[in-house]
Amino acid sequence: MLAKTLQAAGAFALAALVPAAPAAAMQTLAFTGGTVVDGSGAPGRIADIVTQDGRIVFVGALDESGLTPDRIIAADGLVVAPGFIDPHTHALADLAAAEADRRRSDNILFQGVTTVVVGNDGGGEPAVGSLAEDLRARGIGPNVGFLVGLGPIRTAVIGEDNRTATADELARMQAMLAGGMCEGAIGFSTGLHYTPQNFAPLDEVVALATVAAERGGLYDSHIRDESSYSQGLVASIEEAITVGQRSGAPVHIAHIKALGPDVWGQSEAVIARVEAARANGLRVTADQYPWRASGTRLANALVPRWALDGGREGLLARLDDPEVRPRLVAEMHDNLRRRAGAEALLLTRPLRGADPALGGHTLAAIAEQRGEDAVETAIAIIRSGGYRVASFVMDGADIEAFAGQDWVMTASDGSTGHPRRFATFPKAYRDLVVDGGMMSLERFVRRSTGLTADTFGFTGRGYLREGYIADIVVFDPQSFAPRAGYAAPEELSEGVRYLLVNGALAIENGATTGALAGQPVLRDTSHIDLCEE
Ligand SMILES: [Zn+2]
Repeated sequence: MLAKTLQAAGAFALAALVPAAPAAAMQTLAFTGGTVVDGSGAPGRIADIVTQDGRIVFVGALDESGLTPDRIIAADGLVVAPGFIDPHTHALADLAAAEADRRRSDNILFQGVTTVVVGNDGGGEPAVGSLAEDLRARGIGPNVGFLVGLGPIRTAVIGEDNRTATADELARMQAMLAGGMCEGAIGFSTGLHYTPQNFAPLDEVVALATVAAERGGLYDSHIRDESSYSQGLVASIEEAITVGQRSGAPVHIAHIKALGPDVWGQSEAVIARVEAARANGLRVTADQYPWRASGTRLANALVPRWALDGGREGLLARLDDPEVRPRLVAEMHDNLRRRAGAEALLLTRPLRGADPALGGHTLAAIAEQRGEDAVETAIAIIRSGGYRVASFVMDGADIEAFAGQDWVMTASDGSTGHPRRFATFPKAYRDLVVDGGMMSLERFVRRSTGLTADTFGFTGRGYLREGYIADIVVFDPQSFAPRAGYAAPEELSEGVRYLLVNGALAIENGATTGALAGQPVLRDTSHIDLCEE
């Protein structure tokens, strides 16, 4: 009981997060002479920083510290910042892979990222405790935090059916989510745009978000409609805010955007809704990736939701049904217009048996070559297995408007076939700070570290402060840049000279050390009464 009280007071909050430090982290390491940008937004300053046993033990002038580090690395001319935190990824397949180099995830580390969130878009499994145990045992490159998603729990209880949950089913879904939250998940995620999650009405989402809120979690949503597919962008932002107001959960909007010409310019209305909710005391935040193209599947881009009831099988059956097909094709034409036309859809990666030779071509070019209409071409490609696409659906003015908000942070939404998986953080740095001149280095670091740690509850991370965990990126402000692009999306970024993950060097002199120094990060739920056995 005493221990519980102390934990509630925060006394052990950091101790609970101490990772089992690899041997390399045990030595005292100093970076000297770099520009320290600490994650708070405060002006950068030339300072030395010392780490020991996985923690930052000193920030200041080394010769006044009384410390004699085992190793001193000169960081003159370099930026020393907290390791970046990526709150929206699809990195779990790599982190859980059999191959050690996939689990190391250089695509993440070479962006300067030391912590990722998984389970976004409603995709996270509820058994986060055993998942964390498994990842810890096998070893991973970055740290990872977990969201529990609507998708797996709804599918487990209701399947892919288009109907509301019964009271009993809702209770079972709530119990699954509660289990994951008490095992240390960050919060509850939804992808209400995706089947079968789109079948969940507002009340069901509120009932589940309440379970997360009561256990200290946030609500993270890929909103129901980022465009004009169904209820529209602004109504979907309002829905997410309503979930927060009714459940008590802080709201986080994933990859905020105005998708497609129908809603270009609506960033202003979206920002006004969020600002109003924040002024009323609700914590609302969002993340954003710095690319004009989203990444999705061709079917998800073009096929209306109702036609995906029953999954791929259901869709193929409807395409074969002469009664249904004309309506389906007409709506696909509508969706193609929403997506700015066939020239704006670039095929990037084949699914199942689809022809790899189509990769790198737009839907318009493929249709022209086949002498066929774009929607018929898309249907043929979907039938053959499907494709991942880069979908050029965003307007620069909206991207800039969202980027300018102090409640918006950097995230990759990294997915296979899109350069954002390899290059988001350096691209955001280039676009926002170096080339765009939209914000200071300090503000870019803040929206990639401290703001994200505070929002997602990564206690003891996200800042360069004594006592904090030694997740540190040291990068060259001249050369920190993406190398991946839409045509070659899998090139490692450049400019990160050193990267510490939990105090261990993961990148040294711009090259991987091979270290698997990441740790699963579970929220401390010991002080939450609802999580008592
Ligand atoms: Zn998403």
